[in-house]
Amino acid sequence: MLPSRRDAQRMRILIIEDEPDLLRSLAMALRDEGYAVDTATNGEDGAFNAESINYDAILLDVMLPKLDGWGVLERLRKTKKTPVLMLTARDTSRDRVRGLDTGADDYLVKPFDLAELLARLRALIRRSSGQATTRIQIGEVILDTATRTVTRNNTPVELTAREYTLLEYLMIHRGEVVTRTALYEHLFDEDDSTLSNLLDVHVSNLRKKLGHDFITTRRGHGYCIEG
Ligand code: CA
Repeated sequence: MLPSRRDAQRMRILIIEDEPDLLRSLAMALRDEGYAVDTATNGEDGAFNAESINYDAILLDVMLPKLDGWGVLERLRKTKKTPVLMLTARDTSRDRVRGLDTGADDYLVKPFDLAELLARLRALIRRSSGQATTRIQIGEVILDTATRTVTRNNTPVELTAREYTLLEYLMIHRGEVVTRTALYEHLFDEDDSTLSNLLDVHVSNLRKKLGHDFITTRRGHGYCIEG
């Protein structure tokens, strides 16, 4: 269940991001969704806001002037458990591990998809408010975004990291046709040009593991998991 527009209106989000264009578009998108939005353009101001106000969630850039995202997070975690979604430019395991140690709740790697950011933000808020579940169930398949595990008929399904990422993306966007371009951008680095067939391979492997009809191909458009 997604929060209704009215629920979202009561929620207050802090965005700490120094890139003016990104900050503006994020703030606009969140306000469109009905969130109340505060912004900060450096780590010091952001940490001050985060400590003084009880936000429902914080979007926190890693590379920030004055105090970086890790510093903000470290300071915040001394007093508050506000859910934090880190926006990181680098998708390296070192960054992820560091984030976990410091107490980040989730990550998105730039450039990210706005729909995904909104979905993760909702999930983060649901989780922290205790109504939550990190599980997405479609038919007999259950995916847990917290543990990054998948079961089918209560039996664990072994997936590669790419297969998991692809499946999670399609399940978050259940009921929508996801274009191949969107999947490429989500799965692969921009400079990976040799991967045009890999997407089909991953989809084919997922079908073998989850049932052929679980992912539908919409010719000329993309892929879809019916919700
Ligand atoms: Ca930045």
